[in-house]
Amino acid sequence: MAILCPNPNCHEGNLQRSPRAAGRWATHDPERYYRLVSIDPAKLTIVHYPAEVLRRKAGPVKPAEADMAAIADRMIRLMREAEGIGLAAPQVGLSMRMFVVDVPANPDESPDPAGLASSTRGPVVYINPIISAPTGAPEPHEEGCLSLPDIRGDVIRPPTVTITAHDLQGREFTQTGTGLLARCWQHELDHLDGVLILDRMTQMSRLRNRAAVRDLERAAKEL
Ligand SMILES: [Zn+2]
Repeated sequence: MAILCPNPNCHEGNLQRSPRAAGRWATHDPERYYRLVSIDPAKLTIVHYPAEVLRRKAGPVKPAEADMAAIADRMIRLMREAEGIGLAAPQVGLSMRMFVVDVPANPDESPDPAGLASSTRGPVVYINPIISAPTGAPEPHEEGCLSLPDIRGDVIRPPTVTITAHDLQGREFTQTGTGLLARCWQHELDHLDGVLILDRMTQMSRLRNRAAVRDLERAAKEL
C-alpha cells in the first residue's frame, strides 16, 4: 500500500508509488524532514478530510526559519480566499505546530467586561502555541472547518482561555481571549493534535452531518 505524503512539495511524496520511498516517509522525523525538503509556499492548498495529515500530531517548528514567514503569508491568503477565520498548518499539508487566525470584531457585541479580546486586529501567526487556564462553564457553539466543507456542528468549549505562542521573529507572547477568538484558538490547536470538530461535535450534530462526512470520504477515494 502506498503511503501518500500530504505535503505537495515533498520530493518523497512525488515518488509515492515506490514502496521504498513510502517507507522512508513513514519513518521520517517531521522536524528534520521540513528542514530537508524545500517548501514552495505558492503551491500550498487547503487539504480536506480524510487527508491523513489532518490526523497526525504536528511537530514543533523553528519560528525564525526563513520559510516560515512565506508559509504564514500563503496560509493567510488561503484563509481569506476561503473566508475563514483560522487555518492551521496541517490544513495545508504541513505537519507543523503553527496556525494563523484573523477574527474580525463583531460590531453588535458589547466589549468583554474584563477587557479580554474576542477578536484580532488583522491576521496573527501563532507558532508552537500552548493553551492554558480554561475559564468559565463550557458552552456549545456552531463551528465549521475549511477542511470539512459543508459540515457545521455544535462544539462545546470553555469560553475563555490563555494562549502562549511565538511570533515570526521568535518572540514569545501571551494573551487571554474570550468568545469567538478563544474558540478559534482551541479549534486551531486541535488541528495541531490531529483532532477535528467531528471528534468534538455533540451527538446530534454528528448524526446530522453523517451523510456529508461520507460524501467527503467517497470523494477522496475517487481521486
Ligand atoms: Zn478547522
